[in-house]
Amino acid sequence: MGIKAVKFGGTSLSHADQMKKAAEIVQSDKERRIITVSAPGKRFPQDEKITDLFYRMDSAETKEQREKIFSLIRERFDSIIRSLSLSLDFSEEYEKISEGVKGAALYAKGEYFCAKIFASLIGYPFTDAYDVIFLDKKGNPDLPKIKKAIRSVLETHEKTVIPGFYGRLPDNSIAVFPRGGSDITGALTAYAAEADVYENFTDVNGFLLADPRMISDPKTVRELSYGELRRLSSMGACVLHADSVLPLKERGIPVLIRNTNDPNGSFTKICAKKESFSFSGIVGQKGYLLFSVVLTEIGKNLSAFQNLLHFFEAHTKHVYSTPHTVDAVGVLVSETELNTERETLVQALRTQFHAEEITVTEHIALLSLIGEGMSAQGTRQILKAMKEIEAEPILLDGGADSLGITVGFHEKYLQPLIQTIYRNLQSG
Ligand code: ASP
Repeated sequence: MGIKAVKFGGTSLSHADQMKKAAEIVQSDKERRIITVSAPGKRFPQDEKITDLFYRMDSAETKEQREKIFSLIRERFDSIIRSLSLSLDFSEEYEKISEGVKGAALYAKGEYFCAKIFASLIGYPFTDAYDVIFLDKKGNPDLPKIKKAIRSVLETHEKTVIPGFYGRLPDNSIAVFPRGGSDITGALTAYAAEADVYENFTDVNGFLLADPRMISDPKTVRELSYGELRRLSSMGACVLHADSVLPLKERGIPVLIRNTNDPNGSFTKICAKKESFSFSGIVGQKGYLLFSVVLTEIGKNLSAFQNLLHFFEAHTKHVYSTPHTVDAVGVLVSETELNTERETLVQALRTQFHAEEITVTEHIALLSLIGEGMSAQGTRQILKAMKEIEAEPILLDGGADSLGITVGFHEKYLQPLIQTIYRNLQSG
């Protein structure tokens, strides 16, 4: 019998009726043997995710506030248990939490309780992530240990439900992955079990070719390569956690992004090699700044270039592009990621680098047209659309790979540009 590793996101488990849908999906295919769950997510737009409540509970200033938030969490779990008529009772565990569980051990509880409930609903044994998701000192997955542990679980039980989002550090404490990290757990189980496929159930039918807030009813992308997925995620497309594909890439395990509310509807398949070349996403984001440093030979002098990057390393999280010529280097950063005032940075650059000129261009948007092997066509499409709406490029970046092309321009053009490219692609 084959193995399908399956993961359900928070909206798929947000209340009893959603859990029943997820249960039906698992029970309709006996190869769905290893199931990872997120914590219950939002039931309606103003609702709070269970994990957000746990973070809020942890930072509560008084014991009363902490208990008040915890009572909301308990009520959500208890009402799910009641609605599903399960004979589960978490009161002893609630008691221990009240006594003072903190930090990652607390944040992990959303997934922990949810997995216990879901396991009981579908009649699968529960496996605590603490016993199978081993992490190294830095919090990175210890793949050989995880593989051994998951295999031994599957040999004993054949099927299991595992909480996502957390694992065990070498000192036996709990650590959580970055937010949205249950995708990573699901991928690790797929890797460890050498699954035939990793099915990620969420609340959309996979990746859309463009943001539905800008394009009405955009097409679902049928196929993505792992590389394309990582490029799309880096530009804000957040259907699947980008890091989750890394172990899958190694074994070539395909990922299917499916909709719990439409399990037989269209979906996106993410794999090593796509069957045909096609565009897989038009993604854009606002809020970038370009620092341009003019200094004779700076673009040729590697150590000066390196020093400039070191300088930015101390003041921001990421550098998105470094267009350069012989006597000028541009550094593109995100405005919200800067930890220092812009003017202070300009002053510091002036004194540390003796720059002849420094300019800062603000309100930049980046748009990437992603598609493996489609860079030349992508460039033509972008330039054509820019001409049509009379937008001027501030920078053009072919990328260090063949996965797509990125253009920077004034952010007022973001929406019209996405709409024009989408329309041209549909009519071409
Ligand atoms: N529950 C965690 C979060 O809200 C992890 C996840 O949902 O994947 O970030």
